[in-house]
Amino acid sequence: MKKFLPYYPLLKPVLGTFLLALLCGAISGVASGFGLPLMLKKVLPVLFGGGEPQDLVLLDLDGSEEIIAGISASWLPKVHLAVPADCVLLFALALMPLVFVIRGAAMFGNTYLLNLCGIRVLEAIRMKLFSHLQHLHLGFFGKNKSGDLLSRTTGDTMLLKTVLVEVTNDLVIQPFTLIGAVGFIVWSAFQSTATQQFLLSLCVVPLSVIPVRFVGKRLLKRSKKMLESAGELSSVLAESLQAPREIRAYNLEERECSRFRKIVRKYFSLQMKCVKYDKLLTPLIEIIAACSISFAVYQAAEAQLDQDTVIALVGALYFAYDPIKKLGKINNRVKEGTAGLARLEEVWQAPIEVADPAFPQRLGHVRGEVRFSDVTFGYNDAPVLRNISFTAEPGETIALVGPSGAGKSSLVNLIPRFYDADIGTVFVDGHDVRDVRLSELRENIAVVSQEPILFNDTIYNNILIGKLDATREEVLEAARRASALEFIEALDEGWETLVGERGGRLSGGQRQRIAVARAFLRNAPILILDEATSALDTESEAQIQQSLEELVNGRTTFMIAHRFSSIRTATRILVFDAGKIVADGPHEEIYESCPLYRGLYDQQSMEKESA
Ligand code: ADP
Repeated sequence: MKKFLPYYPLLKPVLGTFLLALLCGAISGVASGFGLPLMLKKVLPVLFGGGEPQDLVLLDLDGSEEIIAGISASWLPKVHLAVPADCVLLFALALMPLVFVIRGAAMFGNTYLLNLCGIRVLEAIRMKLFSHLQHLHLGFFGKNKSGDLLSRTTGDTMLLKTVLVEVTNDLVIQPFTLIGAVGFIVWSAFQSTATQQFLLSLCVVPLSVIPVRFVGKRLLKRSKKMLESAGELSSVLAESLQAPREIRAYNLEERECSRFRKIVRKYFSLQMKCVKYDKLLTPLIEIIAACSISFAVYQAAEAQLDQDTVIALVGALYFAYDPIKKLGKINNRVKEGTAGLARLEEVWQAPIEVADPAFPQRLGHVRGEVRFSDVTFGYNDAPVLRNISFTAEPGETIALVGPSGAGKSSLVNLIPRFYDADIGTVFVDGHDVRDVRLSELRENIAVVSQEPILFNDTIYNNILIGKLDATREEVLEAARRASALEFIEALDEGWETLVGERGGRLSGGQRQRIAVARAFLRNAPILILDEATSALDTESEAQIQQSLEELVNGRTTFMIAHRFSSIRTATRILVFDAGKIVADGPHEEIYESCPLYRGLYDQQSMEKESA
């Protein structure tokens, strides 16, 4: 449980409710462990005769002083209850339901309040994980599959909640039942010497720890594997659901089904291993309990105990084993929780590599000068950018050209700090980007990428993302300048049209126009167009090109494009090859001086002519 201690502060907002739940639990525990055997001991004599002098007594109404039923407790004042003769049995019998009413009400209160705490705690755990995920840098998402992260957020958080709320509850209340039941047996033992032999039967209780430990160890190992497999299952599912078009286009339906079947089977077989160990515990403890009860009954027979006492004691023994069984199950939940916590901590302990500086500098009004000074950067060990140095003057439009994988996208990713340079520095208006608050830096940069991601929300809200505090007029103006107004107003629901998951209900060109509108709205001095028109057909590209030309105007722009036609507005071209800048200048100049650029340019011109 030590591992879970740092997470107990998550219970703080519901502490009052949780304590109340524990109190209810403790009452129900004592009512089960002590109350029920006690009632058995008291009621049976009424039904079958016998009994000892009591402090709380039910008397026959005619005052014959005959003691019919009662409770012996030294702290109780001697109370004599006068009851009509024909109601004595009824009163005695009513004692049983009374215990059950107390036990039932307390149990209900405990479960209800516990669920309430559980929901709140789960929300807090998920929020803690989600907000950490929001601040992790992009490299983390490259290494971890989204489906697996989804599974951690939904499944593994549940396991932690179970330990924090339900296990803690059981750890507090089960001992009450155990102490109550053992207390009853010990109390009975002190009442009569004959019962003392019965105490021997409790010696078997510690033996129950053996199966608990045996099962717990195995369950931890299997749970870890099962959770990993659940993560794999989610990522296969997420991947497949995100690519329905590709799956149909390449006839991958059967392949996907068999991939899914394989992973589901693996998951189920691991799940069954967990079920096996989880469910094995109860019968093992019950077998030990049965041995102990047989032994106890033998002791009772030897001591010639009366029937009522034996029944009550056997009941107490049963209630003593119940919490042990539950404590065994708790051990299983803790093991599962340990496996889940390890996976959650992998996320929580992932460092926020791209973070705000301790003492941020103010950028103020940004002119848009971007300078790379001897920058080297790599995702893993090998650098993908090497010793990059250049300065983009405010308002300049720079096209980044080169073979695929040369490092163009990696370079532009360093400006808004999606990643940080390993060596060297990126400056914006003379400020090291690492010295500026992330939100202020990013406010001054607009990005339009190849596949703009739209959220499943209205068109209006999707554009508003560019500047959350924009007025309606500003949003409309941005849409107009992005040539999006016409198609938006032609839609049945206009601005309120829901765009579907990832903008699936819109065409590629429409999605891109919304992304351009976002950039207009942001009105940032630095603009990054990362293959902004590559996914479009030539007609859509031509339409968007006009808007882009207007967007580029007056901003420092970095343009990555495969098609040379879309970089005709660039005033300067940087040619990349294997992570290095091999040429820098206007088209005419580098066409002459750089064979790589000339080759790429001529190849495209030839393709265009033959088309
Ligand atoms: P370009 O934009 O010129 O096509 P990129 O900058 O996308 O090239 O990629 C440069 C190199 O970095 C490539 O070798 C690519 O495989 C690698 N790379 C790109 N993104 C990642 C990533 N998230 N994780 C690891 N390697 C990456």
